[in-house]
Amino acid sequence: MAVKLQPLPFSLGALEPHISAATLELHHGQHEAGYVQRVNRLVADSPLAQASLDEIVAAARKLENRPLYNSAAQAWNHAFYWGSLSPRGGARPHGAVAELIDRDFGRYELFVDKLQQAATNQFGSGWAWVVLQADRLEVITTSNADLPAAGQTPLLVIDVWEHAYYLDYQHRRAAYVAGVIERLLNWEMANQRLLDAGNGVHARSTAPSQPVHARSAF
Ligand code: FE
Repeated sequence: MAVKLQPLPFSLGALEPHISAATLELHHGQHEAGYVQRVNRLVADSPLAQASLDEIVAAARKLENRPLYNSAAQAWNHAFYWGSLSPRGGARPHGAVAELIDRDFGRYELFVDKLQQAATNQFGSGWAWVVLQADRLEVITTSNADLPAAGQTPLLVIDVWEHAYYLDYQHRRAAYVAGVIERLLNWEMANQRLLDAGNGVHARSTAPSQPVHARSAF
């Protein structure tokens, strides 16, 4: 089997009350598991049968194989999303990412406003990302399964597909997003990703053209 569903990095109830155990159980055990199963079905008996998820995403993108790309990218995005959340997350960022926020957004409150608006206003299903692009911190969104573009190194992501919040918040996406930003965002991972990308606040470097697998940064 090429790709395995990784366990959540926290217990099902660890993110309550902001994300319920029931949501996590469905989101990880059904939605993410479904993407992983579809990837494995699509690569079975092909040259990608033993490839890593990173390799499958890259190959599907290159081959413009949209069905494979959609499932592989969704498997990648979900693994990265779980790493972006922590029961000890939220509150004020610290370290290198905090310095970048101040430098590139002016202050933390302006960054929060930008991320909150981007995530809330993404039309339909998608993802709101904090990325490093050309040594600057940016907030971007992608639609459906799409990953950030080459040259954008993801640091954190918020899943804004309805399945991420509908059980807990119904249509109130803004309330879910606020809970994630204020209580769950894993600034430790953002700092680790900056370190892995070779970017201190003052360092300039070229971001990798293809993001490293999320699990390697946990
Ligand atoms: Fe999701």
